[in-house]
Amino acid sequence: MPRLPRVTYGRRVTDHTSPAVPHPAAPTPDPALTSTPVAAPAVVSAASGAFAAHLPLAHSMLDRAAHRRTEEGLFATLRADPSTRVVLLHRGRLATGPDGLALATPQEVAAVPEPHAASGDHSNTPRWVFLGEDAPSGTSFLALLLPDDADDLDLDIEGVDPKGPLSVLVRTHEWAGLRELASRLGPRDTGLATEAVALAAWHAANERCPRCGEPTVPVAAGWVRRCVAQDIEHYPRTDPAVIMAVVDPGAGPGEDRLLLGHAAHWPEGRFSTLAGYVEPGEGLEQAVRREVAEEVGVTVGEVVYRASQPWPFPASLMLGFTATALTTDLRPDGEEVTDARWFTRAELTQATESGDVRLPSRSSIARALIEEWFGGPLTGE
Ligand SMILES: [Zn+2]
Repeated sequence: MPRLPRVTYGRRVTDHTSPAVPHPAAPTPDPALTSTPVAAPAVVSAASGAFAAHLPLAHSMLDRAAHRRTEEGLFATLRADPSTRVVLLHRGRLATGPDGLALATPQEVAAVPEPHAASGDHSNTPRWVFLGEDAPSGTSFLALLLPDDADDLDLDIEGVDPKGPLSVLVRTHEWAGLRELASRLGPRDTGLATEAVALAAWHAANERCPRCGEPTVPVAAGWVRRCVAQDIEHYPRTDPAVIMAVVDPGAGPGEDRLLLGHAAHWPEGRFSTLAGYVEPGEGLEQAVRREVAEEVGVTVGEVVYRASQPWPFPASLMLGFTATALTTDLRPDGEEVTDARWFTRAELTQATESGDVRLPSRSSIARALIEEWFGGPLTGE
């Protein structure tokens, strides 16, 4: 059964399983984090409410303008337009500047070859992707995916580096991973970055056709890879993963407890909500119940969807839920989860302030789920 390789997602949310009654030890609730305890609909729009507002990677404002992907000569048109901006990626990292992404002008990348060159498409060729448009300004955005070896200086017999333009781009920029950048990107750059990082990972993993093993080439402005041998198309995939705040309602309001687990591969003291991939042929609610049962032996009743966040490491979509526990006996599976505990708000306050428990980063949906249940921000990164 597929499991998430690394669970470091999280941020804050509002809780439908119990009224937002602050524990005496809890800080004054952040109004943005406490939702009016209305009857919870079965499905809540991902973009709505305070919960989604605390998911930094879910804030894209970009118009993907999918209708332009098949436009004849799109890359040439956009590269000739001085207002176009280019997201640069190298080895999964983004070119950054003081204000977020360092977006290149067409002139700065003019020496980089056109896509679909006769040399084909493989890990040592640059790749171009159309990301979309920014409606207010009319700016179009491309991503330039630089090959891994772009920074290897490889002089030919005349002392010239044939990868010169690529090597210069790598050496003249600062690079950072999306996880590090997430909290300081604005909505536009968040959309550009998540889209570019996800597509870069997809291209890198799909150079060959999964059916016949022959090479594939990018078409549709980087949104499709075509198997030339079979004349079939392959599209980018996203892997849905459920992540859930499991709550024991306890004796009543204010007595509820949150379930947090420690995964085998995490640093000591790291606790987070449980999570796992949706299996083939499985519904989301089923996946929530199965994962919780497998990992800690708890039976879950009501499951309520909260919001989602792209997590392109390499291709996940995190779907956040709250879930009501029907049993409280904890039996960690000892493989994926090596420790699991119920926390009251007072216990979680004490444990995070003392450093005994360290929560996942503020860019993660796990953190949003934990802080929504808690009713406000908690100590730690
Ligand atoms: Zn094929």
